[in-house]
Amino acid sequence: PFDVLVVGGGPAGASAAIYAARKGIRTGIVAERFGGQVADTVGIENFISVPYTEGPKLVAHLEEHVNEYDVDVMKAQQAVALRKTDSGLTEVELANGAVVSGKSVILATGARWREMNVPGEQQYKAKGVAYCPHCDGPLFKGKKTAVIGGGNSGIEAAIDLAGIVEHVTVLEFADTLRADAVLVKKAESLPNVTIIKNAMTTEVLGDGERVTGLKYQDRISGEDKELQLAGIFVQIGLVPNTEFLKDSVELSNRGEIVINEHGQTSMPGVFAAGDCTTVPYKQIIISMGAGATAALGAFDHLIRQ
Ligand code: FAD
Repeated sequence: PFDVLVVGGGPAGASAAIYAARKGIRTGIVAERFGGQVADTVGIENFISVPYTEGPKLVAHLEEHVNEYDVDVMKAQQAVALRKTDSGLTEVELANGAVVSGKSVILATGARWREMNVPGEQQYKAKGVAYCPHCDGPLFKGKKTAVIGGGNSGIEAAIDLAGIVEHVTVLEFADTLRADAVLVKKAESLPNVTIIKNAMTTEVLGDGERVTGLKYQDRISGEDKELQLAGIFVQIGLVPNTEFLKDSVELSNRGEIVINEHGQTSMPGVFAAGDCTTVPYKQIIISMGAGATAALGAFDHLIRQ
């Protein structure tokens, strides 16, 4: 068995593996796709000490850094189940039927943004369609943008963007906003925020290069409408990749792995880090810090065995 077996090869998993391997203990990573969400990111401007980088470049650096150490990297492997053995090891079952085990396991399977699934969304991803206001908000400085979704993340995004962009239109599918009242009140008080309810986004419009607007249907009148925009922030949920953990570790009602300040989950010897956990903010730099915490937590656990 590995001393530390990491599941996931994004920033959290890579960081956890490096911290573990530097303790001279046997470390492995199983990852469906090395790099995780970073592989899908174009410009990155908030990875502190690196003023600008791009997703694929950062992924290459992550991999290079992991390969500096004796880490067994098992790529293109999907974990489908997690369980304890009688001898106290933790087993990870893979989709191909193989089983890998660790004296400790670090879960770092990340998350995925829920998509609108409308025409144009895929074509204009990173060309005006964005999912992270902390990351991409400044790219739309002085421009018109929309936020799709009137939950807490959507209204927070609208308030955040209102300070940067020219105008924000929030489109909510339902007839009410699900966000906390204090956030709604704040958003409604901003002169450059418009909130439209009962709006079903139907298409992302573009000129072949970039987003130019969107189409939506007024669900009450049935009328089709168009907005001219430079950016669309989709805020309809971040889904943690934890479906395979339902019967093993404690998950929050949103499916996030519940951890304590050492990255420890409800299962002894099993730690977790990054976007798949209850950590409040989901960012590269935060995931890397969390990966380090989980690895040090796992090491502390191992030396007490
Ligand atoms: P992820 O990056 O999601 O990695 C998860 C890893 O687990 C992957 O290797 C995946 O293949 C693997 N995995 C998942 N399920 C399984 C399984 N069952 N078995 C095995 N492996 C599995 N953050 C910033 O700080 N700045 C930005 O500019 C920025 N821009 C972004 C732009 C986009 C388009 C997106 C989608 C996100 C952006 N983010 C940005 C957020 C940032 O990418 C995430 O916070 C970060 O990648 C989370 O790291 P993670 O390691 O926790 O998870």
